[in-house]
Amino acid sequence: MITRMSELFLRTLRDDPADAEVPSHKLLIRAGYVRPVAPGLYSWLPLGLRVLRKIESVVRSEMNAIGGQEILFPALLPRGPYETSNRWTEYGDGVFRLKDRRGNDYMLGPTHEEFFTLTVKGEYSSYKDFPLRLYQIQTKYRDEARPRAGILRGREFIMKDSYSFDVDDEGLENAYYAHRDAYQRIFERLAVRYVIVSAVSGAMGGSASEEFLAESDVGEDTYVRCPESGYAANVEAVITARPDSIPFDGLPEPVEYDTGDTPTIATLVEWANGAGLGRDVTAADTLKNVLLKVRQPGGEWELLAVGVPGDRDVDDKRLGAALEPAEYSMLDDADFAKYPFLVKGYIGPKGLLANGVRYLVDPRIVDGTSWITGADKPGRHVVGLVAGRDFTPDGTIEAAEVREGDPSPDGAGTLVAARGIEIGHVFQLGRKYTDAFTADVLGEDGKPVRLTMGSYGVGVSRLAAVIAEQHHDELGLRWPSSVAPFDVHVVIANKDADARTGATQLAADLDGRGLEVLLDDRKSSPGVKFKDAELLGVPWIVVVGRGWADGVVELRDRFTGDKREVPVDAAVGDIVAAVTAPRG
Ligand code: ATP
Ligand code: MG
Repeated sequence: MITRMSELFLRTLRDDPADAEVPSHKLLIRAGYVRPVAPGLYSWLPLGLRVLRKIESVVRSEMNAIGGQEILFPALLPRGPYETSNRWTEYGDGVFRLKDRRGNDYMLGPTHEEFFTLTVKGEYSSYKDFPLRLYQIQTKYRDEARPRAGILRGREFIMKDSYSFDVDDEGLENAYYAHRDAYQRIFERLAVRYVIVSAVSGAMGGSASEEFLAESDVGEDTYVRCPESGYAANVEAVITARPDSIPFDGLPEPVEYDTGDTPTIATLVEWANGAGLGRDVTAADTLKNVLLKVRQPGGEWELLAVGVPGDRDVDDKRLGAALEPAEYSMLDDADFAKYPFLVKGYIGPKGLLANGVRYLVDPRIVDGTSWITGADKPGRHVVGLVAGRDFTPDGTIEAAEVREGDPSPDGAGTLVAARGIEIGHVFQLGRKYTDAFTADVLGEDGKPVRLTMGSYGVGVSRLAAVIAEQHHDELGLRWPSSVAPFDVHVVIANKDADARTGATQLAADLDGRGLEVLLDDRKSSPGVKFKDAELLGVPWIVVVGRGWADGVVELRDRFTGDKREVPVDAAVGDIVAAVTAPRG
């Protein structure tokens, strides 16, 4: 069927929407693919829905190819199973909750581990039924704190989530690598540039976990890699290379100084370099103590102090990942007022520990390292406070920022950093959920075996924006063929009745050859039509214009920008060949 632009439900916009920050958001709105409904909620208009369906079908075909069986759960889910897994509490403000008319609690599902586990437990009872791979392509809901960048981070979005069930670790590993390979094929087919990085397991619990990050400067995830070894990890998952402890022998005793008005690291370093300590001091010689309050799901707020070398900031995402599922917030002035022993700007390990504040430090703060840090009195610091000798923290925490140039955790070189957008996640959950629901089946030896499980997600709706993010130029979108809303966009750019009839015939012939054709048969000027064609981003544009009289049409490759003239007689064959030729 040919889609005529004179009838298509589409209005393109000349200007960028005011509140759109990233290119994909601007373009998808300007080109009429999506429309905002409320923060993080979008409607998909005809062109956008075509792209979305194509992404779904690529994902579906690769999931089917690894033996995945598609099912579909409701988005509206009862509280009970989430209570059993403790996620009803753990999710905190991150989900939408509601009650039915009888007062029963429900959640709009943010992910479905509980229900897949229960379903498999309900249907299967023997080892002979496994391995099993189930998936769905379904709408998820999360009350994201910062829905941003359009459909990149929605509060309603479409995810492909799969779950594998096996009777042993080897089966789980096979399922994991099958998904990992399938994801590589999916992203390849979608022409997405991506990296695979180690990830933390987050609220899901479990062990081996990797993320697929689309390379993008507008990504919210930062990852690091080591060019020498190929190590790559989300910064959230970087385990700091821990230096060796230093013997205490000969380390000078700590001395307390009046340092004047020195509440910041910069002022403290300046004081130290003027104090005649007999060495150059940098921020890395100071120990900065950051005060937070932390609340476990369903628990009370508690104080937590995090000690990091003064040249590093605490990274919010690393801190969040390290504390998960607890939530945290920085101590504000009102909180400080409640604890007189916390002398802002002069907080030291001794005051924290003496007052029972839980104190976790960066892994670089090993025994024998000596620090300049607060003395818990206004205008006073201590020099030479030695970890393990003068204070003993309650443990370590991976919260300090990871920087380019830091040593790679595998010892192979140094790290470089880049940004990415999470498009997929593969995860060996193990028995977290099958334990919670005692999902056992009869083993080969007649004894019950606990199933082991993996969970694997792809951000289907997010991918539409990711592809737009990676494939556009200043004129508009440039879809790869696998997801383009149409294969070819025929533009009638000639008022001549002959040309118009010819163009319509050409469109019909292309349609007859199995191509999806968009025909711009509107009365608008050629200029407007060209602009729209560039904005919409169909990969091949056929212009039936002035050349018609000379027996040629123009074929434009929107993806590469190449243009060439094609004789009308050979046009159908040439265009079909161009459209169906694999891209290099
Ligand atoms: P993020 O770190 O970006 O919040 P996540 O780790 O919470 O994502 P998962 O639970 O692993 O996400 O979900 C699987 C996939 O679903 C993600 O890889 C991502 O592509 C997609 N996804 C997650 N949250 C959103 C969202 N708010 N909007 C669109 N897609 C999302
Ligand atoms: Mg994830």
